[in-house]
Order: sequence, then C-alpha cells, then structure tokens
Amino acid sequence: MKNKVLVLKILFLSLIDYLPVKAQISAPVEAFPLMNVRLLDSPFKHAEDLDIQYLLALEPNRLLAPYLREAGLTPKAESYPNWENTGLDGHIGGHYVSALSLMYAATGNQEIKARLDYMLSEWKRCQDSAGNGYIGGVPGSKALWEAISRGEIKASPFELNKKWVPLYNIHKVYAGLCDAWLYTGNEEAKEMLIKMTDWAIQLVSKLSDEQIQELLKSEHGGLNEVFANVAAITGDEKYLQLAHKFSHQFILQPLLNKEDKLTGMHANTQIPKIIGFKCIADIEGNQSWSEAARFFWDTVVNRRSVCFGGNSVQEHFNPVDDFSKVIESEQGPETCNTYNMLKLTKQLYLTSKDDKYIEYYERALYNHILSTENPRVGGFVYFTPVRPGHYRVYSQPQTSFWCCVGSGMENQAKYGEMIYAHTDKELYVNLFIPSRLNWTEMKTEVIQETTFPNEENIRLIINPEKRKTFILQLRYPQWVAAGAFQVIINGRNQNITAQPGEYVSIERKWKKGDVVEIKVPMQTTVEQLPDKSNYYSILHGPIVLAAKTDGPQQEGLFADDSRGGHIAKGPKVPLNNLPMIVSDSDKIASLVQPVPGKPMTFTLSNLYQANKNETMELVPFFCIYESRYIIYWQQATTKGFKDILQRTEQKELERIKSDAITVDKVTCGEQQPESDHFIQSENSSIGIIENVHWRQAKGWFSYRFKNVGNESLSSISIIFRDWDQNCKFEVWVNGVKLDDITQTSNTSGKESGSTLYSLPGELKQQKELTVKFVALPGYITPKIVEVRLLKPGN
Ligand SMILES: [Zn+2]
Repeated sequence: MKNKVLVLKILFLSLIDYLPVKAQISAPVEAFPLMNVRLLDSPFKHAEDLDIQYLLALEPNRLLAPYLREAGLTPKAESYPNWENTGLDGHIGGHYVSALSLMYAATGNQEIKARLDYMLSEWKRCQDSAGNGYIGGVPGSKALWEAISRGEIKASPFELNKKWVPLYNIHKVYAGLCDAWLYTGNEEAKEMLIKMTDWAIQLVSKLSDEQIQELLKSEHGGLNEVFANVAAITGDEKYLQLAHKFSHQFILQPLLNKEDKLTGMHANTQIPKIIGFKCIADIEGNQSWSEAARFFWDTVVNRRSVCFGGNSVQEHFNPVDDFSKVIESEQGPETCNTYNMLKLTKQLYLTSKDDKYIEYYERALYNHILSTENPRVGGFVYFTPVRPGHYRVYSQPQTSFWCCVGSGMENQAKYGEMIYAHTDKELYVNLFIPSRLNWTEMKTEVIQETTFPNEENIRLIINPEKRKTFILQLRYPQWVAAGAFQVIINGRNQNITAQPGEYVSIERKWKKGDVVEIKVPMQTTVEQLPDKSNYYSILHGPIVLAAKTDGPQQEGLFADDSRGGHIAKGPKVPLNNLPMIVSDSDKIASLVQPVPGKPMTFTLSNLYQANKNETMELVPFFCIYESRYIIYWQQATTKGFKDILQRTEQKELERIKSDAITVDKVTCGEQQPESDHFIQSENSSIGIIENVHWRQAKGWFSYRFKNVGNESLSSISIIFRDWDQNCKFEVWVNGVKLDDITQTSNTSGKESGSTLYSLPGELKQQKELTVKFVALPGYITPKIVEVRLLKPGN
C-alpha cells in the first residue's frame, strides 16, 4: 500500500478538515463535518438538548474508576453499578467520550468540551501509568491480555477467557479516541489512539491468523473498522494489516458468496464487523468486500427489518420467514442494532449516492432512533417491543449502564450528520430537519425551516457570501407520489422531470436570500411484516403511526440498577384482548382518516375486539412515550376473524399459565439472558438447532436466579434437546443435589422435552439460587434450551 494513496482515500471516511492532507480523488458524495450543521427548533433539537443534560448528569470520575483501577491508580470515586461493575466495566466511558465528541461538534457546548478534555486527560494518565499503550476497564486486564498474548485463548460469543466480551469493551475506548480526534481534532486523542493500536499489534504479534480468528469468536465491536481508521489517519500500512487480521472470516466468507446465514446470530455482534469490512474496502478499493457489505445491508433492511427500521428479537436475527417471536416477545429490536445499521447506511450512501440508503436512514431515524429517547425526562430505550400492547423501559443516569445507553448518548448527538451532503459543486438536501448549514468551501450558509412531518412544506434560505454558482440537489423521496413533488424558487414554480427516488437538480447562480420552497405531499400506506403473516403497520409518508393502549401498570418503566432492568418485564396484554383490523388487507389504508385540525393525527376504524367495533387514534410512534402502544395490528377478513381470535386466545392462555408460575427464567445460549444470570461454565459449548439456542457441557455450567418477590418456590424446570445415552448429569442448587420428578438423569433415548426438579424445603424460601448443571465424568449434559425457576400453580 502506498501511504499517499491511503491518505487520499480518507475521503471515504468523511473526516474533518484537521486531517493531514485534503483528499484529491472524488467520491460520489461527501458528508459535511458535524460541526458545520446546527439543529434548529424541532423534536430532534429537543432530543439533543435532553442528551446534553444526560451527559452532564453522569459523573466522569465514576465512569473513569475502572480505568484507573486497571492502570494501578487510585480511583477518585466508586464505579457505577449495573453493567459497569459486573464485568463490562468501562464500556460506557468509551461511549461517553464518543458522545461528548459528537455533542461538542454538533453544538459547540463548552461544558461538554470541558468534560471531554477531562476524560481524555484521565485516560492519558491511565495510558502513561500502564506504560504499554493500553487503556481499559476490563476487570483483571493485565493478566487477561498477558494470557491472550501467550496464545491462551478460550473464546465463545460473549466470553473471552471467562471475561464478559473484553474485546467489545475496549473497542469503545478505541472508538472514543477515534471520535475525539475525528470530530474535535484533539491531537492528544490521536496520539493515544495510535499508541493503543500499537499495543494491539503487540498483543497479537505472536499469534497465528488462526488464533486471532479464534479470538474473534468473541464479540469485538468494530475493532477492524477502528484499525482501518488508524491506517487512514496515519497512512501506515501496518494498521491496515491489523484491520485485516481482525476481520472475522466466519462472517465475511458467506457474505462474499452472497449467502444469508444470519438466522440465529447475535445481531449487534455482526453489524459492526460489516462496517469494518466496508471501511477496509473503501481504503483499498476492494470491490468484493464492498459488495459483501452491500449484500448484508440489503438482507437486513429488506428481509429482516420491521417498519421502524429495527431488526432482531431477543438480540438475535430471527428466521426471515417467521416473525412470530418478534410479535410475541417483550424484547424487540435493540437500539444498538439500528445505531450500527445507520453507520453502515452512511458509508454505503457516501460511496454510491443511492437514495435507497437515505430512505432507510430517514425511516430508522424518525421511527426508531428518535423514539428511543424519552422526550419528557431524557433516558434511553434498549428494546422496542413489536408486541402489540407492550411498552418500553427508560434508562436513568445513575442506575443504567447498558450498551444501548452508550449508543443512545451518541445517537442523540448526531442528527446533523446526514441532513446534507456535497461534492465540489453540488449541495444535496437529504433530510427535512430544521437546521443551519455552514458550507465553508462555498462560503454559503443554508437555513432549512419546516415543521415536517406536521407540515408538508420545507423552506431553504440560501445565503452565499457573494453570488455563487452551484447545483442544488433536492431529494425526491420515494414516499411522495410521482408528479406530486414541487419546487418553488423565489415564488416561481419549477418544472420537474425527476421521479421519486431521484434528485431534482437546480443549477443556478445563487444570491443571498434566495428562497427555495419544497412541497412533499405524504400518503398513507400499509406495510406487512416481512414474513407476510397477518400483521400490518401503517405509515404516513416515512412516519410510522401508532396507537396508545391501556393495560396493567408498566412495571420497571424507569430502570433500576438490576441486571435485567432494561427489559419491560411487566404483564403482557393478551393479544386476543387487543383490537384486530377486520378488513381485506388491501383496504386497510382506506380505514385511516385524518383528524381535522390536528396534524399527523388520524383515526383507524374497523377494529374489532371480541365483537365490539371500535376506532383508535393514530399519531407518530416517536410521539408516544411512557405508554403501552400498538405499531402492528393483526388483520383478519370478516370470515377468518373468529378462527384467528380463537387461535390467538388458545396460545395466549398457555403463555399466561406458564408466565403465572415463573419467578425467573433464562434462555440458554443467548448472550444477554445468560450474562444477566451471571453464567459461569467449564468445558461448555453453545449452539443453535432449528433456530433454538442451547447450551451443553462436558464439564458444568451455572446460572444465578433471583427470587425478587420473595415467592415461596416449588421447582426448577428445564427444556432440553438431544438427551441420549451419552447424557448423564446432575442438577445442583446452592450446593444441594436435586432429583428430577419425571425421570432420572441416566434415562436414555429421550430426545426433546421438559423435566421438572422439585426444590427441597430449605431452598423454597431462598432469595438467590445458583443452579448448576454438572456432567458426570465421561458424559455430557443434554442441550439445555431454557431453565425456569417456578412457584406452585393453582
Ligand atoms: Zn444495545
């Protein structure tokens, strides 16, 4: 690689002006630096303001405590709780530095700048103290990394040498340093970033490629992206080689062959890897890797995403032909997934200028990202349930330290990044968000005014310093009908030949005060779940409409510091008690009528609940908070209604019965449920059969269950697969061996089913139970799919 070529290709990363050499080759289109775009009054600006408050509510010394501890320095405050002191120590500190960098670039807020400087100076102390370039809060960092560098590697998707995803954790530090350099030009951050990347080179210097691929079995964020960025920043080839080494072949190879093997995979583990592939591809001009990233995006967006742009259930990609679990679960799409999908979308747009990327970006921005911050008090959402009648949980600054808090703080700081884009002589207007753009190269200011989507008009005021000729490229969204898009310049209607999904080009010698008015008439449309089951969402333009619903109290609406605090664990409204649309599916849009005098408010009629006909009010989903809601309605024809209702009722009765006696449960082999139950294991493995995750062991594994309500307990139930003659094992609870009720553990020939273990008297009142599955010597446990802690039923 020629350094010069590499630096030239920096362009693709859309970095800021601080970079050493301004790129010379032309990419299809460039993003504006975030610092050149200021938001004006809108829900986005409001979200940004609340994010500033959230950022300032966090105490830097508490976030820094894990880093100081690992660097051998004395922490100045106690670590934060939740994920910050149970294994993922320090991950939020990394996101915090990214979020502060973005926020400072987006607003110029000096308090935010002071926080950023402080965080970086403390990180610098940690790096200097460690002496080898490392900065990190991973518990037991020194011993862990020494073992890894010697080739002692035990990796599973969410563990590395028995630590909770340490590579994922340190990726946040890398990303923080990189963002501090790219968005605010902090030289010290750049130096620290390079030093820490040199540390990574050292870390793997004695490992073979196979050993590094083994490491990468464990979640590692976008380490390949960050190393590629360092290569671009420094122009040094060795960092690009490192980025290659950290590219997970297991994920890459099927994508190169255009194969979708994503079902069952942990979604947010994969998306950042693809961002890295694309980044490397852009630096090298590698067409096939770029195609792999595009294929991944197409697959996720067109086959695996719901109407608001999110994907996956319980953090994992569901089968493309079966979204039933997405409908049933309280753990719908995770915010981090969409955060990362938007990063990938930005890369793909900038290297293609294809409007389809903006369509998705816009859809996900209004309907997922904006909706994941509580507009009353701030706070972020982890899961957005698709389940009708359910609700979301909000983080609180002093209790909640989940991944989606980290990505959430960043999300709300970068609404300005894709509103506009440009080339040397063109200005692209992509999103209809009130803002002020400073186009420095053209010495032109552009002000965008609108209350979109409440109105369908957008005003652009163009203020060049002196008269300037350039081409205004106005996005003609696909959600505007052919022929309906209008452009009026200084009161004069323009003739438009472009079609939806294209840009309307206007070349002109612009003068100060020129006014461009755009009209984007919206239509109401209906979108079915991707698996074509009978669930429909309703959109007006790009905006997903939803209805508020009643139901039992929203338990845990504001999360406490418990490990499962991010999950909306309150009662689920039975699906058969929620209104169903009774209509042919092609008539649904006609059942939606605007409410006069109330913008973006509609009624949906022909809803039946049992035999009662009713009408619901629809508003944008992003306007609904602290409430149960519906975004997907079940649909039936008049003829099919009764049958569907009966089937739904039957299924729900079974669920309710089982939920009623469940005190706690863990889905085995899935990252978050296992981590939340403090999984420990020895000689144990995980996998998937028929989209069901499992765990088994030749050694043992254990979970810690909580009896939060101090219930009187009765038993432990397990669901298993492949219980054959090789399986002999014991179940221990708090050191007491249990006997099963339905069979003894050495019975052979039982393939799949469930087994109950009754708890002896002394364990029935325990508040905490560690349940351990131990294989007998020379044998193995069956594949265990689910473990529940039960209380007696009626
Ligand atoms: Zn997350």
